[in-house]
Amino acid sequence: MKNTKDIIKETEQWSARNYYPLNIVLEKGEGVWVYDVDGKKYMDMLSAYSALNQGHRHPKIIRALIEQANRITLTSRAFHNDKMGIFLKKLCSMAGFEKALPMNTGSEAVETALKAARKWGYLKKGVRENQGEIIVCQNNFSGRTISIISFSTEDQYRYGFGPYTPGFKAIPFKDAAALEKAITENTIAFLVEPIQGEGGVIVPPEGYLKEVRDITKRKNVLLIFDEVQTGLGRTGKMFAYEHEDAKPDILVLGKALGGGCYPVSAVLSSKEIMDVFTPGDHGSTFGGNPLAAAVGIASLEVLQEENLPERAGELGSYFMNALKDLNSPYVGEIRGKGLLIGVEIKKECGTARPYCEKLAELGILCKETHQQTIRFAPPLVISKDEIHWAMERIEKVLKEPV
Ligand SMILES: *Cc1c(COP(=O)(O)O)cnc(C)c1O
Repeated sequence: MKNTKDIIKETEQWSARNYYPLNIVLEKGEGVWVYDVDGKKYMDMLSAYSALNQGHRHPKIIRALIEQANRITLTSRAFHNDKMGIFLKKLCSMAGFEKALPMNTGSEAVETALKAARKWGYLKKGVRENQGEIIVCQNNFSGRTISIISFSTEDQYRYGFGPYTPGFKAIPFKDAAALEKAITENTIAFLVEPIQGEGGVIVPPEGYLKEVRDITKRKNVLLIFDEVQTGLGRTGKMFAYEHEDAKPDILVLGKALGGGCYPVSAVLSSKEIMDVFTPGDHGSTFGGNPLAAAVGIASLEVLQEENLPERAGELGSYFMNALKDLNSPYVGEIRGKGLLIGVEIKKECGTARPYCEKLAELGILCKETHQQTIRFAPPLVISKDEIHWAMERIEKVLKEPV
């Protein structure tokens, strides 16, 4: 039997080093719990960056996966399959949109949204061809493709990967006036995350989403919400924009749409916008495959049947208050919404990484984001008792000397 050290050594020998994982090798998971190769148990407080909102191996999702795997898994879009329509109808009716386009990863769905917006800009809004601009926010994260990193403001994400895709303009997040000022006759869309996840769990002030909704509507600019991380229950509502009744023109979803077991993403919009796509304009070999659709349907049903958004809201407040009550000398700001919580380590107390390593020793898995922030984002199926279990350990790490 191989031990942790050998497995990591082999992995590092054969894999590109584009990640810096903690030294833990997981081999099993159930609900909020995961187990390493030595049998040590951990609570998963990262949830694969919110792809595991329904928990590890939710029985209903796994059942749907297996049942569909025993029927048909892939048809390509050269033919219809009997699952995709059901999936997209369910997704659109939940969110109140008219049409959806299925892809696999979040980045692909963001790319799809950008293509839809650009083509709408040229065909419907009348922006001169190749002059279209899309406004984004500083400190954004929407994935890792060349076009997406072209509008990143994070040096490391960009360095060495140029030349970049033109047509993007970055403004400060949380600043509606900056948006209004940045819009020109060539502006097609504004792409923004309702809460910046990878950027360090940055929550905009109340009213911001509604304000950008009003501005974009007034200026005939499309509002695109990247809810790949905030969507599907994480923040206490099914979609984060519901906190302010600020429905976008285009909604981008991914991560938890695949219930933690399969890559499923989608772009939702109106008929007017989606109809800019004609056959051959855009596609994906695996996008909308029946296995993905079956998993997607079950993933949405679990969120609804188990009231996971509501649960995230209640337990999120409870968890965040408990973290604040610790009054840790190492912690600056604590912010978040629902079960997406960022705990910022004060600069003079080092970076977040050693705190995450100590938490892992005590059985809590989480990952730092942007140097100073520990993100706590457990599966939404977590119970109050499990939060207690976590708090006992978090208290040790945030109260005692590191
Ligand atoms: C994770 C993420 C993406 C990219 O999703 P991938 O599946 O990794 O391509 C896009 N936008 C946001 C907000 C994300 O958190």
